[in-house]
Formats: sequence, C-alpha cells, structure tokens
Amino acid sequence: MQLPVYLDYAATTPVDPRVAARMAECLTLDGHFGNPASRSHIFGWQAEEIVETARRDVADLLRCDPREIVWTSGATEANNLAIKGAAQFYADKGRHIVTSCIEHKAVLDSCKFLETQGFELTYLKPGTDGLVTPAQLLEAIRPDTILVSLMHVNNEIGSAHDLEALGAVTRAKGVLFHVDAAQGAGKLPIDLQLWNVDLLSLSAHKVYGPKGAGALYVRREPRVNLVAQIHGGGHERGMRSGTLATHQIAGMGLAFKLASEHISEEKQRLIGLRERLLEALSDLDGWQLHGHATQNAPGIINLGFADVDGESLLLSLRGLAMSSGSACMSATLEPSYVLRGIGVADELAQSALRLSLGRYTAEADVDAAATAIKNSVSQLRLAGSARLQNA
Ligand SMILES: *Cc1c(COP(=O)(O)O)cnc(C)c1O
Repeated sequence: MQLPVYLDYAATTPVDPRVAARMAECLTLDGHFGNPASRSHIFGWQAEEIVETARRDVADLLRCDPREIVWTSGATEANNLAIKGAAQFYADKGRHIVTSCIEHKAVLDSCKFLETQGFELTYLKPGTDGLVTPAQLLEAIRPDTILVSLMHVNNEIGSAHDLEALGAVTRAKGVLFHVDAAQGAGKLPIDLQLWNVDLLSLSAHKVYGPKGAGALYVRREPRVNLVAQIHGGGHERGMRSGTLATHQIAGMGLAFKLASEHISEEKQRLIGLRERLLEALSDLDGWQLHGHATQNAPGIINLGFADVDGESLLLSLRGLAMSSGSACMSATLEPSYVLRGIGVADELAQSALRLSLGRYTAEADVDAAATAIKNSVSQLRLAGSARLQNA
C-alpha cells in the first residue's frame, strides 16, 4: 500500500535519525543507562552529564540559564505545572487569570480546572489574524490578576504572537506571563533575555525529538515560584519529581540543538514551500487562508473552502495525511474552536484543512497536495451544483 504524503507536522514530527541514534546510546548495558540521580558511581555521573548537556542545548535555543529548565513529560505537563503551579503559589495575591479562547486544550483545561478551585478566568478573543494585541491584554488585566497565559504559535493556524510587546505589558503590570511555545520553539527565534516571559512550555516531538519529552522554563531573575504538581524525591529543584528519562532528554537536547543550527534556513525553506502551495492554488477560487499571512510559523497552512462539504473533502483527499478544521471525524462535525474563536463562519470552518509542512517535506509533496486539493474541490463543487439542479 502506498502511504499518503505526510502533511501533519504540527500534530507530530518524525524523530530525526541523528536524534534516534543519540537516544539509543542511553538505553542498553553498553550505553549510558545509569540513573542521573545516582551519585556514587560513574554510571550515574555519565547519565547526569548527558542530562546537563541537553539542558544547556535547550537553554541555548531560548537564550536562558540551564538552571531555568525543568524537564517534564511534554508540553501538556509543562502547561499544567506552569498554570496550576503558579496559580496555587500566588493565590494569596489574587485569583484572576487571563488567557485566550484559542489556546491548546492543555492550557484551556488547566484553566477550566482552576475555575472549579475558585479562580476567575478571562478568555480573550483574538482578531481574525489569530492574535491578541498588547492593548487588548492591557485592558483585561485587573488589580487581582496574577497570571497571563498566551501561546507563541497557534497549532491550528500558525499565527505567532509578538511576545516582546505582550511581555512588556505583563511586566509593567507586575503579572506573571506564561507562554505555550510547543509549536514555536525551534521554528521561530526565542529570546528570553529580551522577552519578559516568566514561564515557557516546550515539547520535543514537534521539533523532531521524541514524544513524551518536554520542559518548562521557569525564570530565576526575577524569581518565579511554583507549587509542584508531582511529588516524590524532589528532582528538578523540587518542581518535578521522578527519575529523569535520560534517553528522552538526550533526544530532546539534540533535537533542539539541531533546530537552533538550522532555524533560519529551515524557516526560509518552509516559506518557499508555503508560497509554492498558495501559488499553485491561485487558479482555484472560493478559498481563504486562516490566520496571519506573514506573522506566523510558515509550515502551518490552514485553508477554508467555500461551497464544499468538509467530510467529503477529507475523504476524497485520502492520499494526503493532514488535519481537518473539525474537532474530530465523528458523526457530528463540530467546527474547530480555534477557527470559531477567530471568527470564521461555521460553514467555512467545517471545510477547513490544516496542512503542516516540515523538515522532510519536498516540493513534489506540495505539488501533489495542490493538485489533489484543486481536483477534489472542483469535483465536489460540480457534484454539488449538479445535485442542486436535479433537485
Ligand atoms: C502539541 C502541543 C501541546 C502538547 O504537547 P505534548 O508534548 O504533546 O504534551 C501543547 N501546546 C501546543 C500548542 C501544542 O501544539
């Protein structure tokens, strides 16, 4: 069976072969299998060295101190630790939190949980470009606001927040700023020397590292405190207990190092592929691009097609592995809350396609996708109008 073309890099990426090789060295008897917390022998020391090298590689990508990196099982856990941990620690200062209605579920569900614990949430509605503006944020901050959580790059539409400008607002107001950077890290530059971001969540598997690995950046200057969500042994300066997964961490470290070495050239290549796709679609009419046209992670392309049934469209495009604009492929096609959140009409949202391109996407893949989309959309529209005429 011929596999479909993989155009779902925002869902997950394959592990870079160099990363997989590094991970394999941390598993078996002839490798670095020791427990990084073992202080009394070389097996432990070697594993610790691998973990600390990876910590430096991740910190270098963010321009922060390695001691500000806390390993987690992924961005979901990092978001939970940041939001619940900060809310619980600073609850005496206030109980109001600001976020947006198009955040990842790991942020939204953590916020929903806090609402059951007596916290009050404001869910900002971004513009049609998918972005919350500094003025909008400023207006939402109250005297009892303790935390703002906004994403770096949106996973469905690719829009990228101006974190320097948003961080200036939170810092001026003395409010903590958490950023879910799972989709942005390694794709767009991050500078925690310049940005007033206090907490920042990372995932390895969106950047050619393994699934089940991530980290939370926790600022030391000015110091940010968190209530731990996982107890047991006091690893990671008490913020996240549990034996460190040396192989996962080694993989994440190398993945981030590779990403930082190629960040601008990979971005340029993805811009080229994006433009090639949009150009190829230009002779088709009745479609639109969702999200910001330029302030984005270029690999994420979300398209809406007028006068096409979303389910039929996805079914006719089985040669392309991508995501739809719907929450799931269940009987009732609920339009994506992200597209709804930026004001896309339900009819257009239900036909949306998210194509996400990455390191191994070739020009031929993009050409095949454009041809298949044009054919499917045209055929479905013809069939639709024929049905209307016969009715
Ligand atoms: C994938 C993703 C997450 C979840 O990361 P995991 O490491 O899979 O837990 C969180 N936020 C965003 C924006 C994502 O794209």
